[in-house]
Amino acid sequence: MHRLASDHGLFGWAKNTSSGLVLELEGESPAIESFLHGVRNDAPPLSNVESVSVTELMGLAGYQSFQIIPSTREDRIDTLVSPDISICDECRCELFNPDDRRYRYPFINCTNCGPRFTMIRGIPYDRAKTTMDRFPMCPECMAEYGDIKNRRYHAQPNCCPRCGPKLFFLDSKGNEGTKDPIEEALNYLKEGKTVAIKGLGGIHLACIVDEETVRRLRRLKRRDERPLAIMCKDMMAVEKLCVISPEEQRRLESPAQPIVLLGKRKSGLDYISENGYIGVMLPYTPVHCLLMEGGMDCLVMTSANLSDLPVLYENMEAVQKLSGVADGFLLNDRDIYTRCDDSVLRVFEGRDYFIRRSRGFVPLLIKTRSALDGIFSCGAEQKASFGISKGEYFFLSGHIGDLKNEEALDHYTAQAAHTERLFGMKVKKIACDLHPDYMSTDYAQKRAKDENIPLLRVQHHHAHLASCMADNGVKSDCLGVIWDGSGYGEDGTTWGGEILFGGYSGYRRLGTIRPITLPGGDSAVFDIRRLGFSMMRDAQLPGYGDIMGGDADTMEAMMRAKTNCPEATSMGRLFDGVSAILGIKRTASYEGQGAILLESTAYADGSMYDISFDHLGSLAVFDQRPMIRQLVKDLSCGIPVCVVAGKFMNTLVEMAAASCQAAAREIGIYDVCLSGGVFQNMYILKKLCVKLASRGFTVYTHSRVSCTDEGIALGQAVVAYGGGQ
Ligand code: ZN
Ligand code: ZN
Ligand code: FE
Repeated sequence: MHRLASDHGLFGWAKNTSSGLVLELEGESPAIESFLHGVRNDAPPLSNVESVSVTELMGLAGYQSFQIIPSTREDRIDTLVSPDISICDECRCELFNPDDRRYRYPFINCTNCGPRFTMIRGIPYDRAKTTMDRFPMCPECMAEYGDIKNRRYHAQPNCCPRCGPKLFFLDSKGNEGTKDPIEEALNYLKEGKTVAIKGLGGIHLACIVDEETVRRLRRLKRRDERPLAIMCKDMMAVEKLCVISPEEQRRLESPAQPIVLLGKRKSGLDYISENGYIGVMLPYTPVHCLLMEGGMDCLVMTSANLSDLPVLYENMEAVQKLSGVADGFLLNDRDIYTRCDDSVLRVFEGRDYFIRRSRGFVPLLIKTRSALDGIFSCGAEQKASFGISKGEYFFLSGHIGDLKNEEALDHYTAQAAHTERLFGMKVKKIACDLHPDYMSTDYAQKRAKDENIPLLRVQHHHAHLASCMADNGVKSDCLGVIWDGSGYGEDGTTWGGEILFGGYSGYRRLGTIRPITLPGGDSAVFDIRRLGFSMMRDAQLPGYGDIMGGDADTMEAMMRAKTNCPEATSMGRLFDGVSAILGIKRTASYEGQGAILLESTAYADGSMYDISFDHLGSLAVFDQRPMIRQLVKDLSCGIPVCVVAGKFMNTLVEMAAASCQAAAREIGIYDVCLSGGVFQNMYILKKLCVKLASRGFTVYTHSRVSCTDEGIALGQAVVAYGGGQ
């Protein structure tokens, strides 16, 4: 603004307030007009001009210059805090320019790039309210900061080798290295060692892309078979590993630099990711750039956490907790205030399709159609996230992980408090899941009681539906194909294969699938042979016990006695069970693994199995038994597993489309939302979109929040609002 005002010869002042930027300007009308045009049309690439309001003041103050005056904090807080931004091209050039005073300085940044959200303790956004406050700027940095013509003009994290944070390298015992930290880290990596590297929002564990090295990392980290991400030096390196479209490249190189899921080009990378995709990112901090330029084409990078605990972000804690996992530590003395994991997305129909919305996107606000003021929505349990609503904006927290332990709950609670402070939020209403045992439900109940505010419990799949509607700005009720692993149903059983009709103020359950028995409850989520066993037994297939091997009798006794044998109408479990029957996966090391592998095994073909429904009153229940029988018969006839897997998914796509058609004939609504974790399955997503569109439906899919439980908080918020009217 200062630069623009100067260009137009305007005098006056500007200041950051908690409700946005305020300027007072004096000058000729045409110059003011042209200035305003510039504000709307020539704003810097990272800015986001939400609105401009102009008031004409009476009388002249007679300003002789343009000044920036100190920030003030006011009660109304709508100012956006910027997300963290990957290193910009200009800073990258300076980083590798031997004549630059920041040559190889790992914390180089400017107004267009660098840490933001992760270092901010409060607003307005000034250095004093960030973790950079302990690094007073040297005279040279101060001069840049104050010089309007400089790229670092008012760049809050501005620093240099003289005044800024320092990088250091520690060995596994915590002893500081003697050589250049980057060089030490590179030496370790090249020897096949694992190095913990502090980034923007947390610490990564890194190692070279080598089978033995990666297997050792997995073993030490106790990281099951989940896919790992790779950081590639540049696009050339990306193209060696993956097939990439221009759209995908644009996402990779965008200021947020998320992890983008790309189709594998090379085989033999199953030790990185056993499915058809690899998550790839580019170096997004100067430290990463220095490492990659030091002779690394690509590095495996995974969040440094143990099992299901939140990512580590503090130096000493990391050294302690990662002893025995990391061989060395590349750390620095710039503290991370708010941890933030890498975002993961793919491109679907030209739009972002989030797996995880975190670094680079938090705290971007999601604009909704109605004012949802004062609602705190708690999310679910897996892929936990919370939302706060202020005015017509919805804030979705970054990735928190599964809310299944105290550490995750502490992280969740601290994040919530920090965000509420940051946005000056006064919680008036709280929304949570219907599940009685979620930690987030507990949290909600406590808060509602302590703060004496109303609590609304939203059914899980209703929240998914509403989330997809709000994601697309849909106002009136629609149909929803809501398929996921599990959610607490109104009847106290687990749901997850639902066809719903409804909107923000309510819903009806139109369809589901025949309940699947889970012998041993949650253990069947991992030992998915049990699901195959239970489904084949239900379909009365002879020899159904074979899949359990020596455990068949125990399982049979368990099912007969109905001990610990809950039922679930879960699409996720149906996938898992079929995956086990097809022999694709028998024991899953993480939830949904069987389903994911089934997708990557399938061969695209149009054929399918029979579809039949039972009708329980107004509820259409898909009976999967005929499908299971035909599928097992196909297998015994020697039809390849890839074909059977494809036919299975085609059947489900047709089943969903047929359910929507039947509902639409009755209700007269041809709008459908697709939500729930199953829609991470690109085969199902693509095929169902095409099929529904060809039958006259308007299909809505997610693009601003994830289809998984991470997006649930948005749905809870809009339902809490709609339901409260
Ligand atoms: Zn920069
Ligand atoms: Zn300096
Ligand atoms: Fe869900």
